[in-house]
Amino acid sequence: MGLLSLGTPLSWDETKPLADHVRDHGITQFLHTWARWKDVKEGKGFLWGDEIEYMVITFPEDGSKRALLSLRQSEILEELKNVVIDLKDEEPEKSMVVPTFHPEYGRYMLESTPGAPYSGSLRDLVSVEQNMRFRRKLAKCHLKDNEFPITITSYPRLGVTDTPFTVPEAWSEADSDASRSLFVGQGVTNPHARFPTLTGNIRSRRGAKVEINVPIFKDTNTPSPFIDPTIPWDRQRYPGDDEAKNGAAKPDHIYMDAMAFGMGCCCLQITFQAWNVNEARRVYDALVPVTPIMLALTAASPAFRGYLADVDARWDVIAASVDDRTEEERGLKPLKNDKFRIPKSRYDSVDRYISSDPRNKDYYNDIDCPMDEAIHKRLLDNGIDDALAKHIAHLFIRDPLVVFSERVDQDDETSMDHFENIQSTNWQTMRFKPPPVDSPIGWRVEFRSMEVQLTDFENAAYSVFIVLLTRAILSFNLNFYMPISKVDINMQRAQKRDAARSELFHFRKWVFPLGRSPSHDDWSSRPSSPSRAGFNGEGQGEDTATNGTASRSSSPGSSGSNQNGDSRAPGEEVEEMTVDEIINGKNSFPGLMGVINAYLNSLNVDHVTRCEIRTYLDLIKHRAQGKLCTPAAWIRNFITSHPAYKHDSVVSDEINHDLMKALDEIERGTRAAPELLGKAYRGSDHH
Ligand code: ADP
Ligand code: MG
Ligand code: MG
Ligand code: MG
Ligand code: MG
Ligand code: MG
Repeated sequence: MGLLSLGTPLSWDETKPLADHVRDHGITQFLHTWARWKDVKEGKGFLWGDEIEYMVITFPEDGSKRALLSLRQSEILEELKNVVIDLKDEEPEKSMVVPTFHPEYGRYMLESTPGAPYSGSLRDLVSVEQNMRFRRKLAKCHLKDNEFPITITSYPRLGVTDTPFTVPEAWSEADSDASRSLFVGQGVTNPHARFPTLTGNIRSRRGAKVEINVPIFKDTNTPSPFIDPTIPWDRQRYPGDDEAKNGAAKPDHIYMDAMAFGMGCCCLQITFQAWNVNEARRVYDALVPVTPIMLALTAASPAFRGYLADVDARWDVIAASVDDRTEEERGLKPLKNDKFRIPKSRYDSVDRYISSDPRNKDYYNDIDCPMDEAIHKRLLDNGIDDALAKHIAHLFIRDPLVVFSERVDQDDETSMDHFENIQSTNWQTMRFKPPPVDSPIGWRVEFRSMEVQLTDFENAAYSVFIVLLTRAILSFNLNFYMPISKVDINMQRAQKRDAARSELFHFRKWVFPLGRSPSHDDWSSRPSSPSRAGFNGEGQGEDTATNGTASRSSSPGSSGSNQNGDSRAPGEEVEEMTVDEIINGKNSFPGLMGVINAYLNSLNVDHVTRCEIRTYLDLIKHRAQGKLCTPAAWIRNFITSHPAYKHDSVVSDEINHDLMKALDEIERGTRAAPELLGKAYRGSDHH
């Protein structure tokens, strides 16, 4: 979460008439930033940081077999603030900058970031796990003895109606004016005015409650068709209570009706600063096709609202949970009051590539992506190139959701508030972040698809992997372009049960630019000798077509004989591969791990650092190979093999309690989970 502006939030009826004002001034603010920054070619070094989200879980002192969400976010954050100051006073020489904790949507959630961004150095890279562990420890110190910060993506019993799922209990029964949910009260939401207003205004704009339907996992004793007996079908408290029975709740699905079900999920995000705007745009584009692959590889959410789902990941849930589109925008009614048909929720996958790189071809941007034509023209008239103008004009088809009355009029030279209002409520798989005003921070790119992992070892491993991939992309000028429509197909496949092991994904197979392909040895994991640093120029990859010595090709008939390299026939560039092949490589395709190895081989990495990095990369490698399972698979297996599980898809209080205990024990290292983590993991109790 960015800064929480303070003030008086406006209702939807008051906000709607201000939408054009916010958009107009938002664009003006962006243009001022652009003018300030466009000529900065060099100067902003590579910096990066992670965000980790936790749920605070309580085990009641009465000893009952229950686990509950603790709604103490405000108190805990207040305490963490004070301690941060204490720590600084006591240990000013401490090399690790004191981390920061942030509020999140759920009142049971915490978010932490490193106190200062990490540098691009490999030494910094191998300190990430330590930093994450320190943050978790700090959080733990400020929880009650029976409270634990658990990094689970979706809480399996959020919104159940048979027993309480929060503490204090009463709050789950409290009013839910903002969401009007049948399942969750306002009490689960951060009390800051921004959050209930966001919730309420999304519902008002949409004209109905949000509608989330996750396919249920059909086990041997699950009724078929499954009609959920725990939905209060006949409640009559709010208008909209009858939506469930009038078709919003689908048979054979887990039905949810509030923003909390999505925004109350946890994730792992990584933000990088680039040297300049063009580099940021290049990295953004290259990472777009990587987002679904990493969603599949991090999948950690197999259960929602008390039931096992037939999906392993949160994405569609969170997309639907903030879907503010009207019926006209969703294409259910002819356009009359609204301007656009909008194919996706404002929380969804990227719709366009943004780089002005000539390799960003029109045919890659092949999905319906409405944009505000007037804004597009205004940006072009002010010197913004077409790719970036289209990106922003697309983000700006959305209305602002929360406006504070005190912040309607702003100085556009010194504020980015209106711009950020629209930008920060476009929650896509990647985010291109312009520099804030009055700050040394430059152009950044955020990788947003990953689910949070159970241990900081895993969270560090995925962070290290993404950071090294980013370095490799820039260092080798890699080309990952493929049609966005195929990235979207991958997003759907990535969420399926066991996707990391059993799905195929579209991916580009020719990734090295012409004539710059390192040899196969360079992308193997062998430590480099100094003489091998950099490219050896032998070029044994597919791109050697240009010098007529193509020695390997991924399949007969696609030998890369096209001399144009990057402009090969569109149909040939992309192939369906397993996650294992995409990560670990196949024939002449080096895989993402292969390009990372080539990058590491081009550096002079000392042996110790190399071994430490290898531990992290091996986790990703083995997950991709299927030798290790995802958190989703582990949790699913724990539930289905629990003695109290009745093969009816129900995740009971007792199972959930034992699961939360198990997850905490895994993190601390008092319970082994070699099938998830491998054998080397040492828990926080042993560290
Ligand atoms: P948001 O919630 O808006 O995505 P946060 O402030 O929670 O943003 O997290 C931003 C992340 O970016 C943190 O991990 C932080 O360390 C990192 N970061 C901060 N400054 C920079 C910078 N100049 N370049 C790259 N990353 C940065
Ligand atoms: Mg967050
Ligand atoms: Mg954040
Ligand atoms: Mg945020
Ligand atoms: Mg969030
Ligand atoms: Mg973020």
